[in-house]
Amino acid sequence: MLITKGFKYRIYPNKEQQKLLNHQCFIYNQAYNIILDLQKETYEQNKDKDKKDKTYLKASEIDLKVKLALNQRELPFKSVVAQQARINANRALEQAIKDKNKGFPKFKNSKMAKQSFNWNNQGYQIKDSDNSKFKIFHLMKMPLKMRYHRDLPNNYKINQITISKSHNKYFVSFSVTYTKPNVSLISTSNLDIKKAVGVDLNINEYALSSGELIKTNSKLLAKAKYDKAFKRLQRKQSKRILKAKKEKIKLGVNFKKTQTRLNKIYEKASNIKKDLHHKISKEIVDKFDLIVVENLKTKNMTKRAKLKNVKVKSGLNKSILDTSFYQFLSFLEYKALHNGKLFTKINPQYTSKTCNKCGSIKTNLTLKDRVYICDECGNEIHRDINAANNILERGLKSFGLGISLLDYKQKAFLIS
Ligand SMILES: [Zn+2]
Repeated sequence: MLITKGFKYRIYPNKEQQKLLNHQCFIYNQAYNIILDLQKETYEQNKDKDKKDKTYLKASEIDLKVKLALNQRELPFKSVVAQQARINANRALEQAIKDKNKGFPKFKNSKMAKQSFNWNNQGYQIKDSDNSKFKIFHLMKMPLKMRYHRDLPNNYKINQITISKSHNKYFVSFSVTYTKPNVSLISTSNLDIKKAVGVDLNINEYALSSGELIKTNSKLLAKAKYDKAFKRLQRKQSKRILKAKKEKIKLGVNFKKTQTRLNKIYEKASNIKKDLHHKISKEIVDKFDLIVVENLKTKNMTKRAKLKNVKVKSGLNKSILDTSFYQFLSFLEYKALHNGKLFTKINPQYTSKTCNKCGSIKTNLTLKDRVYICDECGNEIHRDINAANNILERGLKSFGLGISLLDYKQKAFLIS
């Protein structure tokens, strides 16, 4: 099976190399912004014209204009970087046209803590070093020490390279295509129904229809030293902001320093969560052949209501939670895809309130009820495992498989 996947490694540029990499990030941003401006201009010129009179800039024309603008400012640059900026800026514009809610793409700001630039698939080398834990990644005649914490796959082909910087740490990411051997594709005709699973997402644990509850360590992270330190520093910062506003002064060096510390804590904690998400998603994909999850984008307030009701105070844990479910589902989805497994998202409406045995809906179920007790058929089950079973059932239905309820009222589906 042909797979495209990203591989990210930390690199350790020396001072001189950092300067050069920073400069290319700056060039990338400048080129990107110049292109957005150019396209804006083109859009304005075309606005009132007939379709046949509209003119668009060719890629080569854009590249030339960018080159002239950068030369005028006496900025040395790599044309690959400017070209990649053109590709990405145009892509962002296309997406903005498709999705009207998005608005005009944001201009790049070189003062942000996160910076990056793209490179194509040429002019690089990866060589062994004396230390087996490191390789030497060559780019722009620079030998960059690269921490090789995981192997690139056999017979890989690099599509694109990204150099990024986050709070003074540098990384190289490779978008890689390779053939994964021995992947047998699961289809609905060769599926063992026992190997199908529904997953219900909750803050502190993920419930599987098979009856398992997997801890997500959210509570632990909230209590951990990270959260306490985070909250303390956050309070400090908000006081500084208030003071600066009151006295009409600028935020100083100490504010910046504290912000760096906050970012570090956040990064550490979100890495813990990310590692855990990799581990849990791998376990589920290894064990099951069909995986059904909730579609978080569905216009459904259940999850948000859950998030609101559970005691999550402000602070580190809350900000991690905001992205948490999405991250987990994206890991699960690509791992399922890369292993030939079936994966689907369903509308989660009423999955908590519906009895998985008889299909009746319990309208008075509250978040405090940890056990689902059905008033109609007496079914007694952990509320999240009940939900996971409903999720599985909807998933199977979407594949045209296994409607198992004898007395199937389909209330949940009629409502949704
Ligand atoms: Zn029931």
